[in-house]
Amino acid sequence: MTASTRQFALFGTPLAHSLSPRLHAAFARELGVAIDYQPIETGVDAFAEALASFADAGGQGANVTLPLKRHAVQACRTLGERARRAGAVNTLVRLAEGGWHGENTDGAGLVRDLTGRHALDLRERRTLVLGAGGAACGIVPALLDAGIGELYIVNRDGARADALVDAVGEPARVHSRYFEQLPELGEFDLVVNATSAARHGGLPVLPMSLLSARTAAVDLGFGDDAIAFLAWARAGEAHAAIDGLGMLVEQAAESFEIWHGVRPGTDAVHDAMRAGAASLVAAD
Ligand code: NDP
Repeated sequence: MTASTRQFALFGTPLAHSLSPRLHAAFARELGVAIDYQPIETGVDAFAEALASFADAGGQGANVTLPLKRHAVQACRTLGERARRAGAVNTLVRLAEGGWHGENTDGAGLVRDLTGRHALDLRERRTLVLGAGGAACGIVPALLDAGIGELYIVNRDGARADALVDAVGEPARVHSRYFEQLPELGEFDLVVNATSAARHGGLPVLPMSLLSARTAAVDLGFGDDAIAFLAWARAGEAHAAIDGLGMLVEQAAESFEIWHGVRPGTDAVHDAMRAGAASLVAAD
């Protein structure tokens, strides 16, 4: 590490399988930027202290992942528009006057992957989002901005889905429902699995009636985590079955641009990681 090397970190837990350090190292190599990006395994209770130590040691920016994204809002002196609307932060930028600025790049990363890499036109798509956790909070405003049509949010804990619908503030367009009501909801043009159910007991049974030949089905997870949902989508002959690897790469590129003022290319690193996707087990 030289004097000009800028320090970055990833906070969250568990981080053992995180691809973020590899992504940021690859972007930095491509653009000739000197960075040191280290995972710092931290739960909610230790986060404030760990972030303060990182700042004292000269840390310039950080990513924040599970379970800290919503918690990180409290750690920020200022919030960007996307983080404010999401109520969740995944990117921290050290302010010149001290303290942190928070942003959220998850939604922009998803939309860029779907519209760019997968050439999907999201406009007017009748959309179902499964889950109302940190990732759902990040992607919902971005999907609405991208022009989707009616949106249903279904979560195991109905109060969390209601809170997300209320936060969005578009009652004519955005609705919450329970998993038990899925058979009554009809077909969707876009179905997004934003749950971590693959790691926590598995998703409730999803009816095939949600799918049509127009449906794009997207799992924010990838590798083993996405197998069951994408298999369901393929069995229902969905038009497209897409995992979250592309979103992961794009949200990282958005964070990189916020920190360094230059956007890395993403295709080469995406393709390299896709080639090894069978061994990938975790998303950020
Ligand atoms: P959170 O812990 O904040 O939320 C988890 C969500 O999953 C909640 O809605 C929870 O419901 C739901 N859930 C968990 N277990 C089950 C189950 N058995 N049945 C039904 N619902 C369940 O996690 P995040 O929102 O941060 O992450 C969600 C997923 O998105 C993860 O797989 C993560 O890896 C992925 N992700 C991918 C990214 C990418 O770049 N590709 C970026 C961010 C996240 P309840 O509220 O009822 O507990």
